[in-house]
Amino acid sequence: MTLLSADEVDAVITALTATYPDARPELDFRNPYELMVAVVLSAQCTDKRVNLVTRELFARYPCVDDLAAAQYDDVAAIIRTCGLFQTKARNIIAASQMVRDSFQSTIPMQRELLMQLPGVGRKSANVIISCAGNGNAIAVDTHVFRVSKRIGLSDGKNVWQVEQDLMQATPENIWSHLHHILIFHGRRCCDARKPECLRCPVNTTCRWPEKRQAD
Ligand code: SF4
Repeated sequence: MTLLSADEVDAVITALTATYPDARPELDFRNPYELMVAVVLSAQCTDKRVNLVTRELFARYPCVDDLAAAQYDDVAAIIRTCGLFQTKARNIIAASQMVRDSFQSTIPMQRELLMQLPGVGRKSANVIISCAGNGNAIAVDTHVFRVSKRIGLSDGKNVWQVEQDLMQATPENIWSHLHHILIFHGRRCCDARKPECLRCPVNTTCRWPEKRQAD
């Protein structure tokens, strides 16, 4: 598969931007602390479920120092409807303790420091940097990975390679925007099992060989 030309990349970004003018983070948060917690909870869980859970969690623990001092059983009870809630409860308490003890209770905005926090990997760090830190980063989640490869923005074999391809193909100042329009497209049109290619705004450019002619 040949990757998209520079003109085709521009055309895809223009089309997806026009289709999803409201593309933005779908996790609810008011500050970096809340985003860090929401991102950790979102692993293998829908954003909708996380938003329900964090409403109660943040009312009970309004700042990172509050969560750092929380009891595991209390936190686990609040987030029990999220998948892997036991591990996540341990991680968000431990991450909050590390932020309190090592970073003066301020969520760091450097990827290397964020990735030291329990439960925060490269993808989560990129989400925090781009959504709460006004930085430029492309978080490659399952939607970004699938859509990028189908369209022809990347032929990477893993998330790291896809992230590198996307960074090479696009200017740094749109990386965060690109992340959001690809997620929106993956959720609303380019479904993993049933992509709606006939109504897709980039179906004339998309490289996916199995593009369906009849949805
Ligand atoms: S044409 Fe189909 S496979 Fe390609 S991006 Fe659109 S929905 Fe996805």
